[in-house]
Amino acid sequence: MKDIRDIHFTELESFLQENGEKRFRAKQIWTWLWKRGAGSFDEMTDLSVALRTKLQENFTFHRAEIAGEVQSKDKTTKFLLQFHDGKMVEGVLIPSKDRVTACLSTQIGCPLHCAFCATGTMGFIRNLHYSEVVDEYILLNNRAQEIYNQHITNIVFMGMGEPLLNFDNMMTAIDILTGKDYFGLSPARITLSTAGIIKGIKALADRGFRCGLAISLHSADPTVRGQIMPVTEGNPLHELQSALVYYHQKTGERITIEYLLLSKVNDSEKAAEQLAKFCRPFPVKINIIEYNSTPDSLFHKSDPTRRQRFIDILERCNMVVNIRQSKGQDIAAACGQLVKNQLRIDN
Ligand code: SAH
Repeated sequence: MKDIRDIHFTELESFLQENGEKRFRAKQIWTWLWKRGAGSFDEMTDLSVALRTKLQENFTFHRAEIAGEVQSKDKTTKFLLQFHDGKMVEGVLIPSKDRVTACLSTQIGCPLHCAFCATGTMGFIRNLHYSEVVDEYILLNNRAQEIYNQHITNIVFMGMGEPLLNFDNMMTAIDILTGKDYFGLSPARITLSTAGIIKGIKALADRGFRCGLAISLHSADPTVRGQIMPVTEGNPLHELQSALVYYHQKTGERITIEYLLLSKVNDSEKAAEQLAKFCRPFPVKINIIEYNSTPDSLFHKSDPTRRQRFIDILERCNMVVNIRQSKGQDIAAACGQLVKNQLRIDN
């Protein structure tokens, strides 16, 4: 049986016609699926019971569930989300003064094996279907209202997985999240973060991507980056740089560069100069990220003096630099700490 959320609108229309139902019912069902976030056919209360039964007999309806939840001292909440096959990912809600940011996953596990990231140790399990990505949003948005009394205001695809290696599902999910007839979220409030998949970046440029793009650069030195991010081998830095020039030309957008400072690995003055040089051909905002330790940590965070020197050099080169405060470290919900079996629920 087909999943109702894996068919096209026109397919649904034909199904209804074949079953003697009015075509406009398709719109109603669609609204339940993609606007109201219904979790079952039974919730579609403006459909006749007969139609609901018919739908049930012909389609499956998979819906993710929250399998666990834990809150940090700083009010960040981490969720374990379970899909119909029992596989799980983590999602995080990060409240701040006037926003609630949802950090969502794009794959179960991750194939990239960055040396500093806990998710990489899980290996790659499977891609998320677009309906599963949308489910993450729906479930966390409901909880955001219950916990913080506020909707999700921003989404960052910075959870588990590499979004550009799950390209089609991610584009469909983003179309559903931003579509006027769907959830209608502003693309300006959604950021997709990639480890630098060149083919995907060019494809985003070609489709006129309207969300924010963040690149996990972490080093502008080919040798160093190759050591900490194996993805560099198939996606060399000079080609990544050209892809970002192309992206900027096509979209006109500024690019966010994420840079995780690892003591004595990528935090030297030379590294800062290399970073500034890498970013010169396109407008950027550089987010300096503090290293969060993971279970078998190989790295240490930079000490404050080295960090400041690094930032001073960038600022002297007229770069916009932010220091990104990591949240939720005490519950292993911070960047790079997401790995399925780490969810601890204390009550
Ligand atoms: N694969 C995508 C999406 C994951 S985003 C990407 O690489 O961009 C998660 C962000 O957290 C990335 O910038 C990642 O490099 C960073 N990160 C990974 N491990 C970390 C750690 N231990 N401490 C801080 N940031 C980390």
